[in-house]
Amino acid sequence: MNRLLPDGLLEIMQCPRCGGLLVEDVAASQLHCIDCGTRYPVEDGIPNMLDDAAIDPDPDRS
Ligand SMILES: [Zn+2]
Repeated sequence: MNRLLPDGLLEIMQCPRCGGLLVEDVAASQLHCIDCGTRYPVEDGIPNMLDDAAIDPDPDRS
């Protein structure tokens, strides 16, 4: 199974906005907060968790 991040890294990370759990969206190369829906880009295996880089959840999708 393809992974964006090394084993163990995702498990210790949390959403900087809400503290929620993050899941990988391998196809989109993003991390996705399952609580607030914010997405964070992953570039070359390094998640960009800066608020400037965060992608707001699409209000038309749930
Ligand atoms: Zn969140």
